[in-house]
Amino acid sequence: MPTIIIIAAAVGGLILFGLSCRPKMSSSGSGKVPSSPSPQTKATIKLMTRQQIIEHLSQLENGAAPEPKMGAMCYDMAYVNDTVVYICPKCGEKTLYPRTNKGSGVADEINFYRRELSLMGNSPEISFDLDELALCSHCTQDTANKEISLVVHYKDGFDHHCKLTSTSDLTRLRAFMQADLSYETSNDGTEALKPFLPRIKELLGTAKFNK
Ligand SMILES: [Zn+2]
Repeated sequence: MPTIIIIAAAVGGLILFGLSCRPKMSSSGSGKVPSSPSPQTKATIKLMTRQQIIEHLSQLENGAAPEPKMGAMCYDMAYVNDTVVYICPKCGEKTLYPRTNKGSGVADEINFYRRELSLMGNSPEISFDLDELALCSHCTQDTANKEISLVVHYKDGFDHHCKLTSTSDLTRLRAFMQADLSYETSNDGTEALKPFLPRIKELLGTAKFNK
C-alpha cells in the first residue's frame, strides 16, 4: 500500500508541474521578447528590392489573412525602476529619465527597438537604421520631442524617415520583410499582417516609390 501512495504522489506532482505556468511553449523557447538568433543565423531580408516589396504587398492585400494563433497567457513580472537610464550610441553619454517624464517610455523600450532592428537584416538595396537622437540630452537641444524614427535607406539615395509609435511597428515590419503573412506576438502567438499593411506602407515610404 505505501508503494501505491508514493506512486500516486509522484503522478500528482507531475500533473501539478504540467499545469504550472509555462509562458513559452513554442519552438523558439525564449522569454517574453523575441528570441535572438545567433550571429551566424542572422537573417537577410527576403524582400530585397522595391519591386519585391510591392509584390508582397499585393499578395497580402489580395490573399486571405491567415488564422491567428493564440499565445500563452502567462507573463513574468518585471521590476520597474523609478528612473530609466538612456545611453546614447553616438556620444556614449547617459540621459536619465524619471518615470514621470514622457521620454521614459521610449527610453525604456529602446532596447527592444534596437533588438528588432538588429534582427531585421539588410539587402544590397535596402537597409534600416534607428534615429534615436531625440532621446540624448547631450546630442539634441530639443527637449520636447522624445520620439524615435525608423530610417529606411534605399540604394538610389532615397532615405525615408517614419516616427515609431509602438514596438510592434518593427516586429510587424520585420515579419513583412521576411515575406511572411503573419507576425509573432509577444506571447508566442501569431497574428495576420494584413490589417497592418497601411502602417507597413508608411514605415517603408511606399507612397514615394514611383516619384
Ligand atoms: Zn548623444
